[in-house]
Amino acid sequence: MFYNVHCHHLQVFEKEIKIYNVLGLETPPQHHFFSAGFHPWQELVQATKDYYQERLLPIWSNQYCIAIGEIGLDKVKGPEWKDQIHSFQTQLYLSKEFDKPVIIHCVKAYYEVLSLLKRVKWDKPYIFHGFNKSYRLAKELLQKGAILSFGMPLREYAFMQEVFMPLWRDYPTQILLETDTHIQPVRLLYQQIANALNVALSNLCEIIEMNVKNTFNLPDIKV
Ligand SMILES: [Zn+2]
Repeated sequence: MFYNVHCHHLQVFEKEIKIYNVLGLETPPQHHFFSAGFHPWQELVQATKDYYQERLLPIWSNQYCIAIGEIGLDKVKGPEWKDQIHSFQTQLYLSKEFDKPVIIHCVKAYYEVLSLLKRVKWDKPYIFHGFNKSYRLAKELLQKGAILSFGMPLREYAFMQEVFMPLWRDYPTQILLETDTHIQPVRLLYQQIANALNVALSNLCEIIEMNVKNTFNLPDIKV
């Protein structure tokens, strides 16, 4: 199977298992794994802790909800910084009672995200999705225990060679794959990586599947 841990569409592709991202109060899809939370771009100035609690707890309790997120911090886009911090921190606090990892949207705020995770004593896996920064930053995050999910930048030769390949060599258990907003089979990314690494596609699938199962508690239900 081809696991796609973060995407925004429900297009069916052969042998693909995806985690659909539910944005805020959107109705979750039926019979589909999903993650849910308020994206940092969502304007929630008036939102109190009760607001999040009443709306998110029922969604997070859904058996198909296998991750919290995407939630996070964005220094380039979105509401005022203090409102983003409030939203991210409140959702982290409230979701701690669920045994689910968090999928993080992070733009130029890696250290702030790490310090918030520390502040709330986050003890479950945390995934920086759509990673497209340097090898150096990736290495630092991975050494702290983060999981990185990779998508479209893998199509760029330099990123594949200089960032992804050395990471794959050193931290193969902390890597996941996704298509995010792109409507295309995640299999294409798998194929690209298999070619670059010169390994069998089935081999790569096995490793990513193991990483997925170590990161998420996949319930034994039909998807
Ligand atoms: Zn996304």
